[in-house]
Amino acid sequence: MLTKALKNILSTSDIKTQLRISRQFIPSTKELKPAKGFTDDPMHEKNISIGHANEFIHKYPDKILVISSNQCAVLCRFCTRKRVTYQNISQNDLESPSTDFIKVVEYIQKHKDIQEVIFSGGDPFMLSNKNIQKLLDIFLRIPQIKKIRFHSRALTVLPERFNTSLFTIFTDSFKKYPDKQALLVLHINHPEEISKKALDVIHKFMKCGFSILCQTVLLRHVNDDVQLLQDLFKKLIYHGIKPYYLHQLDKVTGSSHFEVSIENGIKLIESLRNTLPLCIIPPYVIDGSQGKKRII
Ligand code: SF4
Repeated sequence: MLTKALKNILSTSDIKTQLRISRQFIPSTKELKPAKGFTDDPMHEKNISIGHANEFIHKYPDKILVISSNQCAVLCRFCTRKRVTYQNISQNDLESPSTDFIKVVEYIQKHKDIQEVIFSGGDPFMLSNKNIQKLLDIFLRIPQIKKIRFHSRALTVLPERFNTSLFTIFTDSFKKYPDKQALLVLHINHPEEISKKALDVIHKFMKCGFSILCQTVLLRHVNDDVQLLQDLFKKLIYHGIKPYYLHQLDKVTGSSHFEVSIENGIKLIESLRNTLPLCIIPPYVIDGSQGKKRII
């Protein structure tokens, strides 16, 4: 799967760009170097997960994040949920959700402030269409839920997964609930990750009524460059995707070589402010167990 994913995202022939992008996925001996402050669960999610650990996270009063799959099309070397996504998997795991959705529904019904369900993972689109249909059937019918959100990287690394029947499921499901909002939050770190194939899929989501946003992680030797970030945010806006957050790296074990200091991150944002309209520069944030904190 990694070879296929790399082939999809390395659409450019520029070798330097290919190296920058592939650094995110190819294991490096640098990962073995111990680094102070880097841990297996930097967000302390195990402590805040309710129910079975790694199933769902209730960090903000109005949202619940459901770890709907422990699979991804790629294994990002800086993944904050490596403890979930780097597990050994069986074919059976690929076919069934890693979470007991009924338990999540019971939890939501007891917490009336929850209005939004975020399907994350891993990647929710590693679930089969049948399971995505099931998931929509279960959660759209809860009256208090106003928004359904998917977090995904599969769209840029494995666009062929998004087949016609998936979009039929979305159209038919959301048609029954016109007052509910559909959101898709992509994870894109480099402008060249946005291929023609990925754009075709993004437009299909838009046709189904999805609002599309993008989260980016600031990564050393991948995208810690003013020109690259400028190109990325401009390209996103051009294609109707809102740059949502620029994340400081989560201090997960084995990822210290990707860290950009906060001081340098601020300098990058300040330079971007000289070249881009402020409204297209996303907030530069750091995540913690209490939620996101804006740096600048
Ligand atoms: S796509 Fe997201 S969840 Fe999957 S390995 Fe990468 S960072 Fe982790």
